[in-house]
Amino acid sequence: MRNKLLIITSSLVLLSLVGLITIQVIWLKQSWAISEEQYDDRVDRMLDNVVDELIEYADTVHKGKNKVIFDVLDTALLEELMYKYIDYHNIDTPFYHAIVKTKNKELIYKSEGYDIKLHPKSYKSCLSCIWKKEYMHISVFFPGKKKEIIKGVSSYALLSVLFIILVSLAFVYMVFGVFRQKKISQLKNDFINNMTHEFKTPISTISIANDILKNNMEQLKPSIVNKYLTIIQDENLRMQNQVELVLQIACIEKGQLQLNKEEVEIHELIRRTVDKFVLNTMEKKVKVKYDFEAENKVARVEILHMQNVIRNLIDNAIKYSGQDVFIEVATNDVENGIVIQVKDKGIGIKKEDMDKIFDKFHRIGSGDIHNVKGFGLGLYYVKNILSLHGGKVWVDSNLNKGSTFSVYIPT
Ligand code: ADP
Repeated sequence: MRNKLLIITSSLVLLSLVGLITIQVIWLKQSWAISEEQYDDRVDRMLDNVVDELIEYADTVHKGKNKVIFDVLDTALLEELMYKYIDYHNIDTPFYHAIVKTKNKELIYKSEGYDIKLHPKSYKSCLSCIWKKEYMHISVFFPGKKKEIIKGVSSYALLSVLFIILVSLAFVYMVFGVFRQKKISQLKNDFINNMTHEFKTPISTISIANDILKNNMEQLKPSIVNKYLTIIQDENLRMQNQVELVLQIACIEKGQLQLNKEEVEIHELIRRTVDKFVLNTMEKKVKVKYDFEAENKVARVEILHMQNVIRNLIDNAIKYSGQDVFIEVATNDVENGIVIQVKDKGIGIKKEDMDKIFDKFHRIGSGDIHNVKGFGLGLYYVKNILSLHGGKVWVDSNLNKGSTFSVYIPT
């Protein structure tokens, strides 16, 4: 229902935008046509004035006798009149003009720059009233006409384009915002579903182990009692770790995480953390190879959080591999720091997912998939802890071949 409303609202806004743009285009076209009409009108009036003065001149000088055009038409005078009336009618452009025989387009006179090819686009005014034997006309071309019209409409056009761009950007921003919110809300739902599912298993395991112990305390051998107590302890620890992760992320986001950094030998920290973690992993056969090459191996870190970072990467390498897990942990020197790499031969990650996996709650193929457990918070935590240490994390991966997570820590 909400999706439908969103689609309807977006469609309406989009439709309004298209309508607005269409109206603006029509309006601009009309403005252009009006400006062109006004320009044409001014030029026509200018030519009428010029021809009127020429008639007057011809009448006073030749008293209406038929003469060859150059007897009546002084080209310097024509030019002078043109300038006079162009100025009078406010036509602020250069111009080329000519006297042309109407019948065969023969040029009788042309000013510098006039080309007969311009003739079809020129303004014309008939001169037959001066030279009655043959039809002739003045032809004037204004090369800057378009520029002048553009100048007239450009300020409105620019403003319209600007407002349309602003409205479009606001619309795109709004749609992206809504979709982002929807995605976050979807991810939060996935997280809540995941969390409920993740807690249901340990809670029922603890409950069953507790019932067995309570009802059969006298009959059970101490070794069996111990086994059930260990189960309760492990499941409890698992839940504790998960809650701790969520709380720590909340702390990071509020900027309240205090780091107690101390100088640590990184190789030793890795070996201790990984060995302990692998020893506690019962469900899969895990093999770890160390390839420590870094010589610059002492860094100032908060031990607890750095252990969590390594544990998260190893946990993922195990979770996202098959039954037989092979992990290589390597270190190398880089400028001002050390790079730790955790390589696995697991399921790998698609190129388009590589950046997203560090986002909060992001799980590849998320939703109700519970075959691999997780909240989509591990790598988000890793990224944030490293950034608090001035370091960073990135991944290289080939789908179905394996992944390499690299961590840089300044030393
Ligand atoms: P999760 O709790 O889901 O493991 P993470 O933040 O640790 O959360 O990882 C985010 C997602 O990145 C995982 O859901 C998984 O799809 C992918 N991922 C992480 N590590 C690996 C890995 N080593 N191999 C393949 N995919 C991985």
